[in-house]
Amino acid sequence: MHSNQWIFSTLLACSGFLMAGCQQQAITHQQDINAHTVTQTTPTHQVGSLDSTAMMQHLKVLEKIAQMHGGNRAVGTSGGQASAQYISDQIKKAGLKAQLIPFENRKKEVGQNVIVEIAGQSKDTAIVVGAHYDSVKMGPGINDNGSGVALLLELIQHYAKHSKQPKHTLYIAFWDSEEEGIAGSNAFVKSLSADQLKGIQAYINVDMVGTKNPTIQIADGDQSSITEMETTLKERGMNEADYKPITDSLRSIPNHVGDLALEQHLKAFFRHKGIQVKEDISTLTASDTAPFLGKVPVASLILFNEQMKGDVLEFAPCYHQSCDTIEQVDPASLQIASQAVLSLLNYLNQK
Ligand SMILES: [Zn+2]
Repeated sequence: MHSNQWIFSTLLACSGFLMAGCQQQAITHQQDINAHTVTQTTPTHQVGSLDSTAMMQHLKVLEKIAQMHGGNRAVGTSGGQASAQYISDQIKKAGLKAQLIPFENRKKEVGQNVIVEIAGQSKDTAIVVGAHYDSVKMGPGINDNGSGVALLLELIQHYAKHSKQPKHTLYIAFWDSEEEGIAGSNAFVKSLSADQLKGIQAYINVDMVGTKNPTIQIADGDQSSITEMETTLKERGMNEADYKPITDSLRSIPNHVGDLALEQHLKAFFRHKGIQVKEDISTLTASDTAPFLGKVPVASLILFNEQMKGDVLEFAPCYHQSCDTIEQVDPASLQIASQAVLSLLNYLNQK
């Protein structure tokens, strides 16, 4: 998750809504915590899930990599390169081929995306599932976004074990330099032809999926949350002139006609699990969904747990700090997120 946008979303959550808005959010979190607890006693949904113990094992390795390379795994650093190496090794171990694609970000740092292709029955249609593997320079980035990497590595294991070919060709993408300009996913989208873009049935983004006691944030496909936001602000007596620039800028974020079906599928999935979700637009531009917006249908899964730290609203505990270690990760969160991704993939492959 990218920090500049997080500040933007903080502004929306707190300065617009003032402190009353922040307090109300705190209550919502309590409800979410309850919902989360309920989940653990609910029988597993039919789609199956990925191995959360194995996902935690990947996080241990990524944390070790950061420790051995100056405390981070940022783009253009030895920790970043060691992370790419670990991901590639895991792909090879699963009997698949890793493609390493270099690019340059706005600071002229060289990053590399790691991409694996799982051939589907159709060569003309594809699904892309992506997570960024780089951390910020301030910390090891284990929840943000080692957690997404761990989920994708186990997704590869899942497909390596199952002989049944998916309908659509699946690209599992580990993006570099998300924390520095969302550069990896951007370079990838720029490299695609119009026909290739047309064949993409969905981009599914996975970011910060290990957060403890999370609120689950999904992409708001029909921008309904903006209308809700306007109603709330109006009710609180805010002048239209004050909130209109914010809501107008949110409305200008591109969307795709296919976004809504993915949102509805995710909502139904979480409703079935008894888990509340928050529909959101502003953070779509804050992660690797950004380059795909309006070009292909997108789905996004971000788990956050906002906390007031003095005057500062933290997106999740230890967000972009040196304490973003495995301590911040709940295997149950990883498991729920993995079920949601599998459920989306099942749905898309049946369409
Ligand atoms: Zn981040």
